[in-house]
Amino acid sequence: ALPRVAVVGRPNVGKSTLVNRILGARVAIVEEKPGVTRDRTEHPAEWLGRHFLVVDTGGWEHQAEGMAARIVDQAEAAVAAADLVVFVVDATVGALEDDERYARLLRRSRVPVLLVANKVDNDRQEALVHELYGLGLGAAHPVSARHGRGVGDLLDEVLAAL
Ligand code: GDP
Ligand code: MG
Repeated sequence: ALPRVAVVGRPNVGKSTLVNRILGARVAIVEEKPGVTRDRTEHPAEWLGRHFLVVDTGGWEHQAEGMAARIVDQAEAAVAAADLVVFVVDATVGALEDDERYARLLRRSRVPVLLVANKVDNDRQEALVHELYGLGLGAAHPVSARHGRGVGDLLDEVLAAL
């Protein structure tokens, strides 16, 4: 079976945009507002000849209400089925309470985690990644899912971790 890479994080951090970047096509659905369901969440992907599945967990955000209470269940299900977790945080917003919630769960899990600081669209915003050390998941990998910045380096890290 192909290794499964789950992209997790709270709504609007750019998970679907990142999944699109990884796939090199606009397959996942990107919405301005959080809470959008989609037909497919699992996509075959390839980088440097290695094949894997990318799981966009955004479909599970459809009940924005009660999210804080539900987030652990949802993330646990995604993490349990994954060989690697790509945990996306919006670097322009910083770590919020729900990000901390994810981080706690991921630190306890035995699945390897790559912390991604998304929306680092330019050099000036690189400094924002340092604020994410507090999540206790090591150094964040800065990317701009929108512009593709850093995504190649991230995929190198994904392959190395699989
Ligand atoms: P999701 O809810 O985590 O799947 O987030 P989406 O991929 O739907 O993106 C939410 C919003 O953030 C959209 O308006 C995206 O265009 C925007 N976004 C995603 N990635 C980036 C990025 O790298 N830079 C900027 N500036 N905006 C981004
Ligand atoms: Mg999404």
